[in-house]
Amino acid sequence: MSQHGLGPRQLTVKKAMTKNPKLLLLAGDGIGPEVMNETRRVIQWLSAARGLDFDVDEDLVGGCAFDAHGHPAPPAVIAKALAADAVLLGAVGGPKWAGVDYARRPEQGLLDLRKKLGLFANLRPALCFDALKDASSLKPDVVSGLDILIVRELIGGIYFGEPAGIEDLGGGQRRGVNTQVYTTEEIHRVARVAFDLAGKRDGRLTSVDKANVMVSGLLWREEVQKIGNKEYPDIQLDHMYADNCAMQLVRAPKQFDVIVTDNLFGDLLSDAAAMLTGSLGMLPSASLGARDESGRAHALYEPVHGSAPDIAGTGKANPIAMILSFVMALRYSFDRAVDADLIDKAVHNVLAQGLRTGDIAGGGETPLSTAAMGDAILSEMEALN
Ligand code: NAD
Repeated sequence: MSQHGLGPRQLTVKKAMTKNPKLLLLAGDGIGPEVMNETRRVIQWLSAARGLDFDVDEDLVGGCAFDAHGHPAPPAVIAKALAADAVLLGAVGGPKWAGVDYARRPEQGLLDLRKKLGLFANLRPALCFDALKDASSLKPDVVSGLDILIVRELIGGIYFGEPAGIEDLGGGQRRGVNTQVYTTEEIHRVARVAFDLAGKRDGRLTSVDKANVMVSGLLWREEVQKIGNKEYPDIQLDHMYADNCAMQLVRAPKQFDVIVTDNLFGDLLSDAAAMLTGSLGMLPSASLGARDESGRAHALYEPVHGSAPDIAGTGKANPIAMILSFVMALRYSFDRAVDADLIDKAVHNVLAQGLRTGDIAGGGETPLSTAAMGDAILSEMEALN
């Protein structure tokens, strides 16, 4: 058992459930509201059919919040997010806000939210639904049955390290600087999340760095190994260089169980892993913070995809990534594995019946609209209940 105890079960809200858990929905921009509509129906169904009631609040984030309040993550929204047991976010951004001052861009609002909630661990599962193995760019036998989890450090490293900036050197020369920096504590806390999750899965963890050319990577490797030796002797830990990991992810991705890595490598590797599964519209994510004394951990659940301005408003968006993000909230924030399994199974069944939105439909298949996919999942949930 880790000192930190951030595995799915340990993360569960520990305080007495005398009140309904608080869920904040931030639909955001583009297809965000469309995919959130279908998720809201799933939440309402859980209340009506299984007696799981949430206190649901909704607010604006991203470009829509900028339009309404001049800020992509207004203080009142941050306050609500801090008070919620979990936040569900659709997507932010779009060409409409391309000219806005950098600090007020929709994407900055999301970074702000993550930072204020202290969400240091980003969980991205790459799961290949059997019915979709032909949609991957890799051969079906390479991805069939794939189930890996990438844990990315989210609020440290080179995206936040100081000094950072562009300086004028004179004579027409400039210098751009970013700093890769990690402390022992930053490495330990994300490593513990990954070890805990590996303990709930296949018991294998691969830590990824560039210890061969970066001293910060050497520190990463040594500190992850220390935590493994001291606190998780039963987890099989190995280390891999990030460039090799990129290669292995497209060569033989099923060799991995859980991968833990820093912010920069996690950004790249989780996108590469995403493509193994066929479509951005299928990929959920969770971002978790530390537990407070009451046992509560801040948590934000969101699809990996963006606001998809090219299809926004057309009813073509796949709502599955958003619905599966809510399923992760049921598992990690609300200890409702049975409900989570039911929704997962409903999604599997719908796909196995050949029902597809446009992003995952093959040639000759008639794609479902966003709402029709929501209908299909809900009626399957009803059948399984
Ligand atoms: P994107 O993920 O929005 O879209 C990439 C492609 O995938 C598009 O062709 C889109 O139509 C398709 N797609 C994405 N989600 C889909 C879904 N659910 N169903 C069907 N098709 C889907 O990435 P982008 O085009 O690079 O970015 C668009 C905007 O979103 C930008 O402003 C970007 O900054 C923002 N963005 C936001 C987030 C976030 O909110 N977390 C993440 C990535 C990008």
